Amino acid sequence: MSAKTYHGTCHCGAVRYRVTLDLRQGTGRCNCSICRKTRKWGAHVKPAAFELLAGDDVLGDYQFGTLQGHHRFCRRCGIHVFGHGHIAEIGGDFVSVNLGCLDDADDAELAAAPVRFFNGRDDAWLEPPAETRHL
Ligand SMILES: [Zn+2]
Repeated sequence: MSAKTYHGTCHCGAVRYRVTLDLRQGTGRCNCSICRKTRKWGAHVKPAAFELLAGDDVLGDYQFGTLQGHHRFCRRCGIHVFGHGHIAEIGGDFVSVNLGCLDDADDAELAAAPVRFFNGRDDAWLEPPAETRHL
């Protein structure tokens, strides 16, 4: 399987996007302060692989800490749909989609996607945390 195009939505449907990615290239879970609370399961893509189709008017933009990341959520239903930012260490501009929002990724594809864990809580992003079972 190579890259496929998927469609993501928030819960109420106001936010819709299209993203092209290869789930086999890896997905991520993290223990940082926001990922832990939103239960985020994400995958990073280049901005060119992502297109917002609807919902610009309802998207909130939450930032904290160093303000490097934009955590975008639907102001109507509260779902964190994607994020974006710039981190030089991972190649610059990126979009991180919430895989839970993809409506046309089937169970088998999602279950087969490799998961990497990141220790964001201790600012050791390139290392897995000692405990991952709860993430
Ligand atoms: Zn919504």
